[in-house]
Amino acid sequence: MPSDRFPQGKRRKREEEFGHLLQQEHSLNAGFLHGLKGQIVEIQARAVEVLYSPRPWPGAVVITGMERGDAEQALLRINAALTKYGMNKSPVVIQVHCTPAMLSKYGSWLDLPLAIILLQCAGYLPDLPPTVEGDYVLVGELGLHGEVRRVPGILAIAEATRPEQTLIVPTGNERECALIAASPGRQHGRIAAVSMLDEVIEFFQGKRTFDNVLNQLISLEPFGKKPIDFGRIKGQEQAKEAALLCAAGGHNLLFIGPPGEGKSLLANAIAGILPRLTVEEQLELTRIYSAAGQLERDGQIVTQRPFRAVHHTISKQALVGGGTLKLQPGEVTLAHLGILFLDELPEFRRDTLEALRQPLESGQITISRTHAAFTFPCRFTLVAAMNPCPCGYAGTERCTCSPTAVAKYQKRLSGPLLDRIDLVVELQPLTLEERFSETTDGQTELLRQKVEAARARQTARFQGTAIGCNAAIPAGRILDYCRFSPAGLEHYKQRVAQANISTRLTDRLARVARTIADLDNSDSIEPPHVDRAATFVLDQRLNFAPAAETESPA
Ligand SMILES: [Zn+2]
Repeated sequence: MPSDRFPQGKRRKREEEFGHLLQQEHSLNAGFLHGLKGQIVEIQARAVEVLYSPRPWPGAVVITGMERGDAEQALLRINAALTKYGMNKSPVVIQVHCTPAMLSKYGSWLDLPLAIILLQCAGYLPDLPPTVEGDYVLVGELGLHGEVRRVPGILAIAEATRPEQTLIVPTGNERECALIAASPGRQHGRIAAVSMLDEVIEFFQGKRTFDNVLNQLISLEPFGKKPIDFGRIKGQEQAKEAALLCAAGGHNLLFIGPPGEGKSLLANAIAGILPRLTVEEQLELTRIYSAAGQLERDGQIVTQRPFRAVHHTISKQALVGGGTLKLQPGEVTLAHLGILFLDELPEFRRDTLEALRQPLESGQITISRTHAAFTFPCRFTLVAAMNPCPCGYAGTERCTCSPTAVAKYQKRLSGPLLDRIDLVVELQPLTLEERFSETTDGQTELLRQKVEAARARQTARFQGTAIGCNAAIPAGRILDYCRFSPAGLEHYKQRVAQANISTRLTDRLARVARTIADLDNSDSIEPPHVDRAATFVLDQRLNFAPAAETESPA
């Protein structure tokens, strides 16, 4: 400290003027997004030394408990914003700590609370009584012109606050924030929306009050594209039946067929016949989409089941989540409660597909970082599509592929992934009659009612267990949950013996037959249900005969 250069009198004068700041203790709550979860962190700060000549903020402030690069950038933004209001220098050295320190804090959520606590430490704002400090939670990124900017993940942050706290958020975040009023006991919270830093400064000077956003009428806007109606898809009756089974029992599905026969359209249409989302599910998806920065505007709520079509060039990280600077949920999490669609399945890199294994098995994905491990939900239904051969026309005169090329192409399918696929269906080229048939809307609505009825039977069946749908019945419990009639069981055993299939396929046959019986509103599985299930579980697969089919009995 080059304080000796200052005359004794000047030093004493500054100590008299600013020394009292060293006696104050400041604390302020800040909201922050950690993975997909909102976290409230406590920012502690105090002035530790009087400066004989005031300094710009980055030279006067030390921040601990936050990623260093992020803290430096925050200070530069705060310095620019405060300069606009003529508060460009600090008369004291300030130490700031963000606690708990073990929680890695990055990004720009903390700009606004940091700016306010620095002003308190430097005496620009009055010291808050300790009893009041905990009443506020502040969130927001600062722009260089003093504007308070919208941040991702605000719903999750709002949910982490206590109902008696006032949450101060950027304008442009308040409608999403207001969705917490949908949670029990949260109707009476307080949310203030601010667009400029000086509004918050004036509030803490006692010169201004805020309106409570929750007292206003909040309009919400549905987010998500409406899936295509089944009535718009011509022909393909068997593929449509497989799509219905997929939606009704949560069975993963593989379409095989030539290009241009509507594999992608069918996959998209499945998202539309899944049961309607409950309010809790809508909020869960909105939280995920907000945290991932996917919502285009404030006040959007996810009301449609997600349909995420993934291209085969996708990186493993984009598929399952990750990122070095900023943690992003992957497509598997964005497809949570909906459909993940992989077109041209054999074109995917093997290690990319292998990365789907954990999500498919557990319905969640854990991403480990240096400081923490994050677990994201990803209970999606997988729909995949592929051509039967490289040219796409295997089995017809148009096919130009050699038998070796076809075999090689089909061998590229990952065995572990095929093991998770219950239904396989081949699409047929449309007949002339089908090609010129009329399309009608409204089929999706009818199919969804069937799916919802079949799902209601499953909900009753699996009450008190962790099983969500027929596709998830564990291997050891098949006969407990798939009740056959005596004739049905006899028939099931016969089919299994005839086809000489592995235990895995045997179980799969029962699960799919269970879903068909549910759609038929039948408590027991009857012979026709078994035969119908065999169409999708055994017959198609044997015709197509990919290399992975020759699995040894488990
Ligand atoms: Zn071919």
